[in-house]
Amino acid sequence: MTRRGPAPQVPRVVDDMDALDAGVAALLALAHHASRTLDLAAEEQGKLAAWAAEHGNGVTAMPASPIVVASYLAWMAVGEQDADDRVLRTPYARSTIRIARSGIGLAHRRTGAQDPTADPYVRAVMRGIARCLWIRRPRQQDPLTHELLLKLVSLRPPLPAVTTVRDRAAVLVSHSTGLTLAEVTSFPRAAVTVLEDRAVLQLPAGRLTLACRCASPAGDLLCPVAALRDLNADLPARAELAFGVVHAGRRRGAGPLAYPRAAEAERALRAVQAATRGAGLRWPAGGAVPPHDDDALAQLLARLDPQTTTWARDTAVLLVGWHLALRGGEVGGALAMSDLARDRLGYTAMLGRTKGDQMAAGTPLSLLPTQEPRLDPVAALDAWLVRRGRAAGPVFTSVRGGRPRPDLPMSTAAVSTVVRARAAAAGLTGRYSSHSLRIGLVVSAIKLGASIPDLMTVTRHRDPEMVGYYARGLRGRASRKVLAQVLGWKEAAA
Ligand SMILES: [Zn+2]
Repeated sequence: MTRRGPAPQVPRVVDDMDALDAGVAALLALAHHASRTLDLAAEEQGKLAAWAAEHGNGVTAMPASPIVVASYLAWMAVGEQDADDRVLRTPYARSTIRIARSGIGLAHRRTGAQDPTADPYVRAVMRGIARCLWIRRPRQQDPLTHELLLKLVSLRPPLPAVTTVRDRAAVLVSHSTGLTLAEVTSFPRAAVTVLEDRAVLQLPAGRLTLACRCASPAGDLLCPVAALRDLNADLPARAELAFGVVHAGRRRGAGPLAYPRAAEAERALRAVQAATRGAGLRWPAGGAVPPHDDDALAQLLARLDPQTTTWARDTAVLLVGWHLALRGGEVGGALAMSDLARDRLGYTAMLGRTKGDQMAAGTPLSLLPTQEPRLDPVAALDAWLVRRGRAAGPVFTSVRGGRPRPDLPMSTAAVSTVVRARAAAAGLTGRYSSHSLRIGLVVSAIKLGASIPDLMTVTRHRDPEMVGYYARGLRGRASRKVLAQVLGWKEAAA
């Protein structure tokens, strides 16, 4: 903050301390833009006392020694940044520092104490303040260690609304059979049999068998058998139809499907039609779902189920961010689809031009499956990307109404919100942000015996001190192989 005002001038005749102090008080008032007389000396002295308590280990502020005042003024002159270059505190303007010095001096002289600001040491510091420096300090965030991360990713996703279950089943059954919307929504419940690996539909025209597709890369998202099984689980025993409606008066999508009677087929049809229209699909009653390839179908289903889509993204954010020790900004903006390559085992991410790597083309980082399936970043990223689609843009996008928006990268703040929301849902009470992922990996690995040079290759820290900061109080040396073991990678990257 810069304060402008008339430059303080030292009175020419300095023969009367009271006159001098009155002059200082007047100048302080001017510099503060004070419209009324305030005891600004007391105010500046109060700030010194607060600083001494918070940052000065409780040193005495009245009377303050010259060292204490010099330390305070030097503290004002430097700003603070965390490891991710976020500004925690900007430096005070030099004019503000001069005001602080004058106020503290005046407050001391008033009480008859020796004026610490007259000390040559304080003068020297004031000259040095002309060359202000930024210092870096890791932000005080709690690490999401291995154990805590496991809690976050073990939470159960929100259950999709019954209407979402119904709409997804309608789309998948029509897609895999070619049946029209009207035919699907008038299925008698008795005509549907769901078995372990297939579903059998007993239709007037004959029997249709649907095969399970859960083994495909998209998992159960595109499987009509899984969708019919979910639908069945929601149906009341007395249902006449497989596809029902939620009765009016209930919150939209809440509660079980009402006992769908044959007479209600038309209402179920309209409800499915409205839901798919909301997801961008025109589905006439007399037609089947228009042809979609698997990718397009997955994205349609993602839009039909916004909650699960967001959940899938958030889980991938947590696991990918943690395993790659990404900075918050890298999770959201810097990791682009073009930086990712999928191979048999996992992904290679090229993180180009991130902080700490401005000149180099990028650092290839491996993302490998883990022995603990809940911590597997590859499966989580697969599950998110099948919903996101392959369009160019950031890997982790904003999701609006279930629609991943490749034009809108997640902000660092959004990543922090995801971390905090999941941590709160898991019952954690610490201070968490996007940075907790990065430091969580470091702390976990060091606790388990990884060495600082090993970690630097993972975290892309140039400065061993930064990693050392996280490692304070912990000891141990290990090879990258050990690091791979402790993090549970199935195969260490070459
Ligand atoms: Zn299946």
